[in-house]
Amino acid sequence: MSARRIYLDHAATTPTHPEVVKEMLPYFSDRFGNASSLHREGRESVAAVDLARERVAAAIGAAPNEIYFTSCGTESDNWAVQGIAEAYAEKGKHILSSAIEHPAVLQALKRLSERGFEITYLPVNDQGFVSVEDAVSAMRKDTVLITLMLANNEVGTVQPVKEIAAEAKARGILVHTDAVQAVGSIPVNVKELGVDSLSLSAHKFYGPKGVGALYLRNGVKIKGLLLGGEQERSLRGGTYNTPAIVGLGKAIERAVSTLEEKQNKLLALKEKFVQGLSAFPCAKVNGGSPALPGTVNVRFDGVKNADLLSALDMEGIAVSLGSACSSGSVEPSHVLLAMGLTKQQVASSVRFSFGEENTLADVQDTLAALESILRRLVKTQDLFAQSKQKNYNV
Ligand SMILES: *Cc1c(COP(=O)(O)O)cnc(C)c1O
Repeated sequence: MSARRIYLDHAATTPTHPEVVKEMLPYFSDRFGNASSLHREGRESVAAVDLARERVAAAIGAAPNEIYFTSCGTESDNWAVQGIAEAYAEKGKHILSSAIEHPAVLQALKRLSERGFEITYLPVNDQGFVSVEDAVSAMRKDTVLITLMLANNEVGTVQPVKEIAAEAKARGILVHTDAVQAVGSIPVNVKELGVDSLSLSAHKFYGPKGVGALYLRNGVKIKGLLLGGEQERSLRGGTYNTPAIVGLGKAIERAVSTLEEKQNKLLALKEKFVQGLSAFPCAKVNGGSPALPGTVNVRFDGVKNADLLSALDMEGIAVSLGSACSSGSVEPSHVLLAMGLTKQQVASSVRFSFGEENTLADVQDTLAALESILRRLVKTQDLFAQSKQKNYNV
């Protein structure tokens, strides 16, 4: 077994880029001041937090005073969904969402339903997309909020958030989007999307773990999350995690300035990978396009995904069963079930998510590893009838 590892789980998390780490380091030591203090040490930190806020705002087309720092994407989603719904509860108690949201949204909605809100979950088609028509016909007079993810974390599908937000706006309904998978992978602009709030998380785009942001359009009300100090307009108290916030700012600036290059590279890698998969008749891609450039979810009929994951891991290749968040549980993916896959097909599905450090050699080696593993795992040899014509020199 070679020591070389091929990491294909960038949708779960990415390594923190060395340039990002470098920019963070002084804020653990020399520049340790509390960003709320008035002396020089404090001013140094607040300047760093301000710069990060400007970078996040610039990256998504927002104003700096529309950016709130949080501890992660989950916190941003929890806060937006619950905080906005509760701030507008007197207007109505109906919320529209989708069947394929991240648990950070689904669990927040569950909490709201326990508090008297009514939630409609829009279905998706077999390609993994919510339809604009379905969304429009589900909008009601008492609908206060629509929460719809921009890009799905399991299959990578990019949802028609812009079209749905335009319809919502015409009806006075607020729109939140979980853009945690999208930011740093595809262009994201809050004005173009027409959303009222948006979540992002640094560790999905080569920033540190444990820091995220919430965009909240000026004028939109939200209930405070952490009660205490006056940080984040007194809506989210707590001493700033300056090193992490600095890391978020650097990471998002870097991600946006290298976006096109990264997109082209990942698209090319994914295309080669999908081409190579056609040598395996048991392999079928789950989900259609538009999709994130680096994410591809594949079903290997006749194979248990957990067996495939551990066999690949032993060959030095890291993949995921779908979402990192639910991989420890035995629950089948709610996303793939919503797309109409059977439980058995869900249990045969694996997510590959490429990142900027992956190479063509990684794709070739993964296809070669898949071939030998599938030969072992798939009982019926005829599933490989066509694989003699394979060519991995992609
Ligand atoms: C990763 C992810 C989250 C959660 O972000 P954390 O920073 O890990 O809490 C939320 N939504 C989506 C779509 C994600 O991919």
